[in-house]
Amino acid sequence: MKYDKNSLKAEEFINNEEILETVRYAEEHKDDLKLIDEILKKAKKRKGLDHRDASVLLACSDESRINEIYDLAEQIKKDFYGNRIVLFAPLYLSNYCVNGCLYCPYHIKNKNIPRKKLTQEEVAKEVIALQDMGHKRLAIEAGEDPVNNPIEYILECIDTIYSIKHKNGAIRRVNVNIAATTVDDYKKLKDAGIGTYILFQETYNKTEYERLHPTGPKHDYAWHTEAMDRAMDGGIDDVGIGVLFGLDNYSYEFAGLLMHAEHLEAVHGVGPHTISVPRVKRADDIDPDDFDNSLSDEMFCKIAACIRIAVPYTGMIISTRETPEVREKIIRLGVSQISGGSRTSVGGYCEEERPHDTEQFDVSDNRTLDEVVNWLMRSGYIPSFCTACYREGRTGDRFMELCKSGQIQNCCHPNALMTLKEFLLDYASEDTVRLGDAVIEREIGNIPSSKVQDIVRERLTRIVEGDRDFRF
Ligand code: SF4
Ligand code: SF4
Repeated sequence: MKYDKNSLKAEEFINNEEILETVRYAEEHKDDLKLIDEILKKAKKRKGLDHRDASVLLACSDESRINEIYDLAEQIKKDFYGNRIVLFAPLYLSNYCVNGCLYCPYHIKNKNIPRKKLTQEEVAKEVIALQDMGHKRLAIEAGEDPVNNPIEYILECIDTIYSIKHKNGAIRRVNVNIAATTVDDYKKLKDAGIGTYILFQETYNKTEYERLHPTGPKHDYAWHTEAMDRAMDGGIDDVGIGVLFGLDNYSYEFAGLLMHAEHLEAVHGVGPHTISVPRVKRADDIDPDDFDNSLSDEMFCKIAACIRIAVPYTGMIISTRETPEVREKIIRLGVSQISGGSRTSVGGYCEEERPHDTEQFDVSDNRTLDEVVNWLMRSGYIPSFCTACYREGRTGDRFMELCKSGQIQNCCHPNALMTLKEFLLDYASEDTVRLGDAVIEREIGNIPSSKVQDIVRERLTRIVEGDRDFRF
């Protein structure tokens, strides 16, 4: 097999030899300061880096250059995403699954956990609970099971979610994280009005992939790896990729992840909308120590910084798998979206206490959404509940063009302030309101256009009067 990023064959665009050669090249040049300086110079143009150059930065062992990598990642994050962090929550619909993934407690052989699938009434209750927290953006999750969770079930749930209007609440964007499927099913998801289609590769290493997925349809490496091409053929132009760090060697995964991004850009003219960076975590019958590729917090942060530099226009997501301390550090280096107040079990939002029996993974950040919003503001960020882009038709290459021209900033910043104001009025605690109003007042002044500042002030007054859902 020959490496070809334009190929539609998984083993050619994620080519094992090319990855091994890249990892070898990076290792050989990790102390080559001349080359590293050249790469950093290239990176400072903010046009991204290819997988080889980025892999050299990841391998770099010179302390002063590593600090430069962190500084540059931080600067790129500021330039492209400002101090805004978009918030979302996962919603688990069903833990029925026919696959045998060794790292996930929902695997078919696990008889310890109760299997549960939400009815439409239960979906509605979960959505109301999520709206009452203040969420506007969800990522729905379901195991792969053609009998229990067919595409019709997923579509029905999406319909239910969008239809619930409780008090001032509304879910305005539903992202979907379900198993690799057919072009026809992707078309149906597109027609249902989804935001991003998310599918983690888990590992790009085919041999490891097949070992970790011994049974079920997910065992088919090509079917899984080529899923984003089918999604794009089905009309979904915002796709989210990611690996489960800890399954295989991180430098292999890092190169594979960037090669996947390069492939999507080369073939479809638009790279991934988001990249997620989950790590293997403890769960029922899953012990992270069983996977010998776990990586330190330090290396995890370095990976995030190198992703930020390599693909500046791609959003980066971190979940509540990570502790508040790690989240704080990594947000600074390039993360643009985080989950908050998450329950990773089926039906978890309607329970008083966080239930553990159907959890997909152990949550390390247990704070409520209000606490997360409060913490973000105390750390200098603007929490945003913005969902404007796909609702304004800004998806795929239209979105990327706007990003690359810098124009997107004129939408993100005011939208963040207006959606934050909605949160403060409808859901926040007293202390969060006090903090938030000060943040909004301060940040209005940072909107470049005085005309837009005036519009935002006028709309903020209307939000106080009861209007909702303004957007640029
Ligand atoms: S990772 Fe997904 S496909 Fe695998 S067992 Fe868990 S829910 Fe099923
Ligand atoms: S304006 Fe678009 S890119 Fe910016 S935060 Fe909103 S949805 Fe995201």
